[in-house]
Amino acid sequence: MTEQTLILIKPDGVQRGLIGEILHRIEAKGYEIKAMKMLDASEELLAQHYHEHVDKPFYPSVVEYMTSAPLVAAIVEGDRVVEGVRSLAGATDPTKAAPGTIRGDLGRSWPGDSIFNLIHSSDGVESAQYEISVWF
Ligand code: AMP
Repeated sequence: MTEQTLILIKPDGVQRGLIGEILHRIEAKGYEIKAMKMLDASEELLAQHYHEHVDKPFYPSVVEYMTSAPLVAAIVEGDRVVEGVRSLAGATDPTKAAPGTIRGDLGRSWPGDSIFNLIHSSDGVESAQYEISVWF
């Protein structure tokens, strides 16, 4: 089967009206959106999604950020899509993310503890399968 990845357009992306811009970049690259929904993430869902981070000091700020507004979850498909969407998204820190990437072009640092970086994308094929099972 062709590879799939999970993306989340995070609450800052939704609130700033960037859903279309972010999806456009993914579609323009040639990947296919196979499923998509907008929802309010529950703390339970986020704990499953971020199971590697729940004990980290920054986790409460992640929950605050990710529950601040609705987000969009989507399954994206294509050969080597996990790697490809990570490349489109850019580095975690939007101030350092390279121009040309989603975070580099559309994101910046804001006051507070949260890193508002617009998009999540799975970091491997196995985590993609797990995250798709969490959100869909
Ligand atoms: P990652 O699994 O590395 O993508 O991290 C998940 C998300 O947690 C990132 O996209 C950020 O939104 C957030 N995050 C990661 N590291 C930090 C940090 N040091 N401080 C605040 N938020 C963070």
